[in-house]
Amino acid sequence: MPPASSSPEPEDVRIPRDVLPSDGRFGSGPSKVPQRAVDALAAAAPTYLGTSHRRPGVRSVVGRIREGLASLFALPDGYEVLLGVGGSTLFWDAASFGLIERRSQHLVFGEFSSKFAKVTAAAPHLDAPEIIESAPGTHPLPHASDVDVYAFTHNETSTGVMMDIARPHDADGLVVVDATSGAGALRVDPHDFDVYYFAPQKAFASEGGLWLALCSPRAVERIERVGGSGRFAPASLSLPIALENSRLEQTYNTPALATLFLLAEQMEWMLRNGGLEWAASRSDRSSETVYAWAEAHRYATPFVAKPDERSHVTATIDFAEPVDAAAIARALRVNGVVDVEPYRKLGRNQLRIATFPAIEPEDLVALTRCIDYVIEALGWS
Ligand SMILES: *Cc1c(COP(=O)(O)O)cnc(C)c1O
Repeated sequence: MPPASSSPEPEDVRIPRDVLPSDGRFGSGPSKVPQRAVDALAAAAPTYLGTSHRRPGVRSVVGRIREGLASLFALPDGYEVLLGVGGSTLFWDAASFGLIERRSQHLVFGEFSSKFAKVTAAAPHLDAPEIIESAPGTHPLPHASDVDVYAFTHNETSTGVMMDIARPHDADGLVVVDATSGAGALRVDPHDFDVYYFAPQKAFASEGGLWLALCSPRAVERIERVGGSGRFAPASLSLPIALENSRLEQTYNTPALATLFLLAEQMEWMLRNGGLEWAASRSDRSSETVYAWAEAHRYATPFVAKPDERSHVTATIDFAEPVDAAAIARALRVNGVVDVEPYRKLGRNQLRIATFPAIEPEDLVALTRCIDYVIEALGWS
């Protein structure tokens, strides 16, 4: 390393304009919201924002979302789209009351997957969950067991590991997938899940605070059966109440209308351009840009060892000495390139880069150039 005096502070690095991306948002959630959707919201605002969510204006947006998601995910007959206020975290609580009958199995491989397991472990009305865990940067495999719910995570956002969604061999429990950061960007066959739930602030380029769940007929039947079993569930966490309201194109309590609108815009943008396959191929291309750059780099390496487990929506890249990833993130931030810091609890010398469909694939090329520019400017090349 050259003497400190010859290198500027990260905050003093100025990246030339022609090296910078067209948009500097690379956060893994909340993630980039396209300006065109914000403009459409502003245009619709005078007759939309501040109107009743029980009236046709807002209910028609909920209807567009429910129909559009059924089409985007090619949901088979009988599948239903449920939604409610509170985000994916609330859905874990709701599932512990209304989806798990007795016992769940959890694949735990990072912060988010471990949080759902903690919810079911703490629920006094459920048996202790079966937890199958693997080290950060990998994912475990499920096995058939005496459980009635298999809890998977399509993309573990904290570590940048994705897994294929498939029903465990010889298993008849419901397959319940946390797709918060994967939905709308990773391919999935609805025959392989019973519940595929997410929130709109990741690949759907909207705001937080809402949960959505694509439910198979078996999942709907489970919700109705557990709901009718006499087990207590607080009303705001009740899945039968969410089901009833979703069928009426509304939520049980007041949702954020801007969130619904931005979600509908992003979903329809995907549908207009070719649907899930098109959206997924944008994320394929963007993530490949980042991984290929890291593979060829003197200091950077993809954190996830197995190429087919490397996330196509949240790329985690480790850096070797003397490069300090936190200093890179600080230098990028003062240049308007934000939120590439790693998941804090992972504690690695790492950057985490979102490659959601809303992010321009060319901007990932620009981002890798910016990182190289900063590494050189800080005297590490
Ligand atoms: C972001 C995220 C969550 C939490 O979502 P909230 O809407 O903030 O509750 C859960 N699981 C995964 C995989 C996530 O990426």
